[in-house]
Order: sequence, then structure tokens, then C-alpha cells
Amino acid sequence: MDRNRRIAIEIIALVFLATALYFFVSAKDKSVGSIGRVDVDSGMHEVMGTFARVVAVAADSNTAKKCIEASFAEIKNVEKLMNYHKSDSEISELNRDGFKRAVKVSKSTYETIEKSIKFSKLSGGAFDVTVGPLVDLWHSAEEENSTPTDAELQQARSKVGYDKLILDGNEESIRFATEGMKVDLGGIAKGYAIDEAVKAMQKGGAVGGMVDIGGEIRCFGSPPAGQNIWRIGLQDPAVAKDVMNTSKPLLILRLTDAAVATSGDYHRFVTIGGKRYSHIVDPESGHSSENLASVTIICPSAIDADALSTAVAVMSKEKGLALIEQMPGVEAILITPAPEFKQIQTAGAEKFIER
Ligand code: AMP
Ligand code: MG
Repeated sequence: MDRNRRIAIEIIALVFLATALYFFVSAKDKSVGSIGRVDVDSGMHEVMGTFARVVAVAADSNTAKKCIEASFAEIKNVEKLMNYHKSDSEISELNRDGFKRAVKVSKSTYETIEKSIKFSKLSGGAFDVTVGPLVDLWHSAEEENSTPTDAELQQARSKVGYDKLILDGNEESIRFATEGMKVDLGGIAKGYAIDEAVKAMQKGGAVGGMVDIGGEIRCFGSPPAGQNIWRIGLQDPAVAKDVMNTSKPLLILRLTDAAVATSGDYHRFVTIGGKRYSHIVDPESGHSSENLASVTIICPSAIDADALSTAVAVMSKEKGLALIEQMPGVEAILITPAPEFKQIQTAGAEKFIER
């Protein structure tokens, strides 16, 4: 399948995914007379290679609209800095020159890479933003319709390793210890952008809001009119595997101030010889991760939810669950691969599930 067609299909799939996920969040620009609040819904906007939607709840519609504008400005800024595929992004500059010289980056990129390293250590290397060479290899494999050879995997793996990133905190610069390394923030940048967008809304006077980028969400404060809590539907990977549709969600999460991120093999993948391979790769083996059909993380910040959902998708279900279980304020809902699609979760996850 050619790349443009694949991207078009991914985008269509994501629209369905987003629709399925947020079906339950009320939309429209409407007044809530009794408590004098208005909620404004941005609708879907294409950004960061996916679709984003922002809902702002404020005292008046002008404030809510300004909050939406401010949050999209933040999201676009993150995209400009961290886009792996745009040659003029900061990440592309780092990937081109990082072995030759220390590349000075923005505070945002520096902090995101620092946070990535923290999650790499925490997950024993399952999460690793230096997976770029492996991600590229799987994309070329798709174009050639042939899985990578052991030699190709070995060659790409030799350029992967967060321990080969050299950070200078004073300069806020990054350098690569090995030639050919590439940083890919695809597993964490959306979370960072969501947190920045939420900050912008809060600064702009919103009393509540929701930011959703490609199925990762954070909500805060007052929910939209007619609701007493934010209700987020989780897509059923058993259904999503075959057809992206707006069928009944697997479950509904009831959230107040929380972020939720789902990593799964069903909304982004490469297809080789008719078989789907997850877009998440195990940095140790170089193979695409097949341990779980989906991993949902619920925690206070979107950056943590984003990185942890990608990390746990690489880990075995036992190790992934054990990692999240020992993190205060973080919960996980895992779905095992087909054909079982068994749901397992941390002890504290139940309180978020609507029964
Ligand atoms: P997510 O959808 O948040 O799970 O992120 C998946 C994206 O993260 C992929 O498309 C890659 O760009 C990147 N990625 C893949 N494998 C890893 C990994 N093991 N650690 C960190 N990022 C990864
Ligand atoms: Mg992620």
C-alpha cells in the first residue's frame, strides 16, 4: 500500500476512533443558564498527524473561545518543535546533526527528552525515544512488503539506546554518542502538548475543559452542560481490530481532573504480507510489540499517561501491571491480545469505571 493511501486510511480510522472515544462528551456551544457557564467545543482539527479537539467551559463564550485558541496555539507549537517527519522541526535538526555537535533545543523539547529518559529508566528501557532507527526500519519494511531481516534489526538496534543521549542541562543541548541515532517523540509529545494546552486554558480563565489529541485526553474542572463529571468512552480493541467504527465502547471512564492515554496495535500499525504489526517497537528485540491489544493509563498528567501507556504496551502484562501498581495515583486497564481480549486492571482502576 502506498504511503499516502496508508496515511489517509490512518486518518479516517482516527476520526472514527476519536468519535467513538468522545461520543459521551457533550458538544456544541451552549449556555448553562442556572450556573452561568458556557461550553464551547472546537470540533476536530488536524494537527500532530492526527485529530485534536478541545472543549472549554468558561463564564462566557468569548473567554471559552479564547481558551480554545490559546490551547491550539500550544499544540501547534509542540508540533512545530517535535515533528519527526518535518525537516524544519527541532527534532529533525537534532536527528541530522546530533552526532556532529551538541544541538541546543527549546525548553519544551529539552524537558520532554529529560522526562522520556526518566520513563526509560522506570520501565527498564521498554520506553525509549531513541527508537527512531527501528521505527524507520519497520516503515521501510512495509514499503517493501517484507519483514526486516535479523541483520537489519541488529543494525538498527545498535543505534538505539537512551543511555547514548548526552544531555547538557546548562546549555539545554543534546548530543548523540552513536552515529545514526534518531529521537522519535511520537510516544510522548502528544501528552506534553495536552498538558501545555490545559495550562493555557486554565491561564485564560476556563473553569473546566478537555483536550483530546488523537485519543489521548486530559480533562479538568467543570464538565459541559448537563453533566456532573467528564465521561470518556474507551474503544473496544476486539471490535476496532477489524473495523474502525462507532460501536459501543468497551467501558466508560468517569473522570474529574485526570488524563487518559491508550496505546494499542489497532489504530496505528504497519501491514506486511497482510499481517498487522504494531507501531510500538520493543527496543530490546527490535520487533513490533505484540504483548497487549491495548493499554490504558489514567493519571493526573497527560505526559505521564502517554509515556506509560507506550511503555506498558512493550512490557509483559505481569511486569507492566506491577510497574503501574507501585506508582501512586496511576491506574491501568490492559486488554490481552486476540482471541482472548481479557481485561485486567490495577486495584484502583475500578473507581473510574462507570457501572
Ligand atoms: P503511542 O501511540 O503514544 O503509544 O506512541 C507510539 C509511537 O511512539 C510510535 O508511533 C513511535 O513513534 C514511538 N515509539 C514506538 N515504540 C516506542 C518505544 N518503545 N518507546 C518510545 N516510543 C516509541
Ligand atoms: Mg504514548
